[in-house]
This record gives sequence, structure tokens and C-alpha cells, in this order.
Amino acid sequence: MEISSVEDWPFKATRPFIISGPCSAETESQVHYTARKLKKTGKVNLFRAGIWKPRTRPNSFEGVGEIGLQWLVEAGKAQGLPTTTEVANAQHVELALKAGVDVLWVGARTTVNPFSVQEIADAVKGVDIPVIIKNPINPDLQLWIGAIERFALNGINKLMAMHRGFSSSLPSPYRNLPMWEIPIALKAEIPSIPILCDPSHICGNRHMLSGVAQKAMDLGMHGLMLESHPTPDEAWSDAKQQVTPEDFDTLLEQLQLRSTETSDPIIANKLHTLREEIDLIDQGILRLVAQRFGIIEQIGEYKKENDLTILQLDRWKEILQSRSELAKTLNIPDAFVSKYLEFMHKESIKAQSAIMNKGKEDELLW
Ligand code: PEP
Ligand code: MN
Repeated sequence: MEISSVEDWPFKATRPFIISGPCSAETESQVHYTARKLKKTGKVNLFRAGIWKPRTRPNSFEGVGEIGLQWLVEAGKAQGLPTTTEVANAQHVELALKAGVDVLWVGARTTVNPFSVQEIADAVKGVDIPVIIKNPINPDLQLWIGAIERFALNGINKLMAMHRGFSSSLPSPYRNLPMWEIPIALKAEIPSIPILCDPSHICGNRHMLSGVAQKAMDLGMHGLMLESHPTPDEAWSDAKQQVTPEDFDTLLEQLQLRSTETSDPIIANKLHTLREEIDLIDQGILRLVAQRFGIIEQIGEYKKENDLTILQLDRWKEILQSRSELAKTLNIPDAFVSKYLEFMHKESIKAQSAIMNKGKEDELLW
């Protein structure tokens, strides 16, 4: 997939790339005031405002619509800030382009739908405009990659992805679970795409923003999108997660930005040595796992010969207890040990079951 370097973007887009602005454009003065205050921080690369808002229920504020595009673009021009807004269909694209918005973003509710993504990708075909693609609401990496591909295939090469978390029905302190492994897997699949993080929509509150923003930076993400509003409590959408431009400034001020690479040979050498140690440890762990599976096979054969059941509850309980005690003394977190044991146990039951049912594999569900 061809993705342009951020150096080719029409404005500064190098790391840390910071997007801020209100969740929604509400009034002309709110948009101008926010842009002015954010510009003053000197920390914003791209000014955002939602013009069409995808809301869960009808009759909530669904955005000011077309008129807001002028407010956004004029406020951006007045402050010398490029602008961005969310587009969800071809008509949004047409209006946003006509108004002179500099960057388009595809929202999480749109990325889930390949028809809508294709419609937007077709609407921008032939236009040299950067596009940011948020992850789909559900944790589906392929769907996210597919959306990026639809733009790349239409010749849109100035692309970034944005991690905004994933919807879950489980109780959680987050509005959307971060599931960091998914943006990490995206980076592994498409190394050339810069990935931004949107702590506002991950958290859904203010107090967790800085922790998520710091984690994103520590993972080497390319930048952040943080919603900012002059009076967040009175915002017409996403009131709980927006921060004032002053608090946005403080949050970024306190952020520690570590570099993704080092040119210092001493640091690089030390890292290399430590990584070699990790490589050896991983090889050792895998050899031990293979050895463990060899013994599990022997146990399976033995149980089969002696007509014993695979699952022996007392033994399983004893394993759980003794391993978790050992792990405690080794300072290994409890959650890690129980996940590891559960996985090992499942695999060992599977292996023994295959031995007991040799010749009847077709009847097995796995
Ligand atoms: C937004 O950025 O205001 C927004 C609606 O985000 P998402 O698509 O991530 O929910
Ligand atoms: Mn929002």
C-alpha cells in the first residue's frame, strides 16, 4: 500500500501531530474563540470541529450542518491553522471540499460500513487531500485495514489512522476500550501509516485523558486528537470528555515525549544487548513449552490405556493454587498467571482429547 511521508503533507504533520478543537461546532463565536485560544498554546497542528454529528439517538444535537463549515474554515484562516471535520457520505465530502476544509476524517461509525467508506473514497478520488481513518467501533482490524485500502486504491496517499477505542458491553472505566493490541497490529500490517490516538473518545471523561495520552506517546504513536471546548460542561455533545484550551495546554505540557529511535550508539548498543537476552529467553520458553506438550502427550496415552478421564479436577485445582503461589513470590501479576494457566490447560485438554479420540477426529468440534 502506498502511503506518503508526512513530509509531503501541506502543513507540519511530523510527530507529535496534535489535533484539537470542539467535539461540535455550536456557534460561530464558540468556534472562533476555541481556535484563538488553541492557537495561543502553540501546540496545535490541526483545528477540528464536528459539523455533522453521528448520534446514538435521534433528537439529540446532530450538528449545525453546512453553515458550520464556514465558521470552521474562517476560524482556521484567522489563526493560521489548517482544519478538519468528519465526513460520513459523498455530500459531506462535496460540501467540505467546497468550503476549503484541509483534512477529512472518517468516523468510527462510518468505518464499520464498507459501502459508506467506498462512497467517501470515490467522492475524494482525484483530489489531493489528506484523510484520517478512525478505527471501526467493533474491534475488527481487517475492517480498519479495508477502509484504509479503499482510500489508497483510489489514489489517496496522504493517510493517517486514528485509534479511538472499541465499543464493549462489559462494564469498564473507559467509554471505549483502548485494546492497544489492535493499533499495534495495524502498525505491524501497515508500517508506513502514522497512527494517532484519540484519548477523548477512549476515555469519555476528563480525568483519564492524560494517562491514555501518555500511553499512546509511550507506544510511539504519531500524535493525539483531544477535544477542547471553552466551557466543556455546557458543550452540546460529549460534555464530559472535553477540556478547556487551558487544560489542554497543561495536559500537553505534562506529557513526556520519548523518541521512537535513537542515534546514540551507546544507547542503541545497550538496547541491542537486552533484546538479545530477550531472544534467548523466548527461545528457552518455547523449548520448555514443547517439552511440556511432549509430557502431556504421554499423560494422554497413559490415561487412555488405563481408561481415565482427561479432566481431573483435583489436579487442576492443585495446579492453579501452587502456580499462583509461586507467581506471587516471583512478582508475576495474578491476572497474567491465571490467563496463562487457563490457556495451557485448554490446550492440554485439546491435545489429550485428540489422543483419546484418534481416528474420530471428524466428530471433534475443534
Ligand atoms: C468525534 O471525533 O467527534 C467523533 C464522533 O468520533 P468517533 O467517530 O470516534 O466516535
Ligand atoms: Mn466527540
